[in-house]
Amino acid sequence: VAKGAGKNQWRRYQAHLHNEMVERLELRSALDHAVNEGHFLLHYQPIVDLAAGTPVGFEALVRWHHPKRGVITPDQFIEVAEESGLIVPMGRWVLEEALRTVAEWRRILPPELAPYVSVNVSVRQFRENGFVDQVRNALQHTGVPPQGLMLEITETMLVKDDEQVWTNLATLRDLGIRIAIDDFGTGYSSLGYLRQRPIDVVKIDKTFIDDMITSHQPLALVTGIVSLAQSLGLIVVAEGIESPTHRELLVRMGCPFGQGYLFSSPLGPTEVLAWMRGVQPIAV
Ligand code: C2E
Ligand code: MG
Ligand code: MG
Ligand code: MG
Repeated sequence: VAKGAGKNQWRRYQAHLHNEMVERLELRSALDHAVNEGHFLLHYQPIVDLAAGTPVGFEALVRWHHPKRGVITPDQFIEVAEESGLIVPMGRWVLEEALRTVAEWRRILPPELAPYVSVNVSVRQFRENGFVDQVRNALQHTGVPPQGLMLEITETMLVKDDEQVWTNLATLRDLGIRIAIDDFGTGYSSLGYLRQRPIDVVKIDKTFIDDMITSHQPLALVTGIVSLAQSLGLIVVAEGIESPTHRELLVRMGCPFGQGYLFSSPLGPTEVLAWMRGVQPIAV
């Protein structure tokens, strides 16, 4: 009996593996199709001056208009996009689209309100030889100045001796584009190390912000990151601000910028201008 049960379990396990593989292959081929047909869209989340409550920029976040599942978020496809290399052509579209959109906002809004756009870039894109030219060209034909663009690279994707990546980051930064380390705190880089690298901004990962309210240790940790980063000349952005308490704590510790559902969830491009008109600066 025991032997038979084991055999059944093994079969079920095999079937499970098989299904998972088929699902991944299907996702990959659907993604390939989406890249060729342009089935992506961008949502934009405001990044605000925390004390004033006013927007300074927007983070572009990709969505896939999936034929069966509707509009889906990156947690459902970024991994496959990375593995398959499809992140490269998808990322090229994201950059172009984000710049076209922010160019329009910058034309409509008065110069003192002109926002920047922050674009997530995969390390695979930074590793490409033509990436710097691609960015330079996109800025040129959309008419966005380099100060209107920020590029985010996830901390855990950074490899210390990936010199191609660091060289490209340095060249982009020399053009006047700001470089941000995304999800800071989830990897092992120290701020002292980052200071020697071509980086302007650190975005503190939302897990630290979440935990800040419930215990003292994360609160002390975030306070430490904010003050050390600023003393090293880095700009700090806090992610995942969901409550007024989060915001107050961050303002009190001198954190200048942040984003999160408290201010707004990611918005469709046409919702952004309406949102901007509606923002009442409520200083804390
Ligand atoms: P991320 O860059 O750290 O972006 C922040 C994520 O947190 C977004 O999820 C956003 O919707 C979500 N978020 C914002 N405020 C809050 C909040 O207050 N509470 C909570 N719980 N979540 C909040 P999203 O849009 O699902 O994106 C997930 C990740 O996918 C991004 O994390 C980024 O790493 C990646 N991603 C998004 N767009 C692109 C892209 O165009 N290219 C690449 N390479 N990666 C992208
Ligand atoms: Mg990001
Ligand atoms: Mg992030
Ligand atoms: Mg994140």
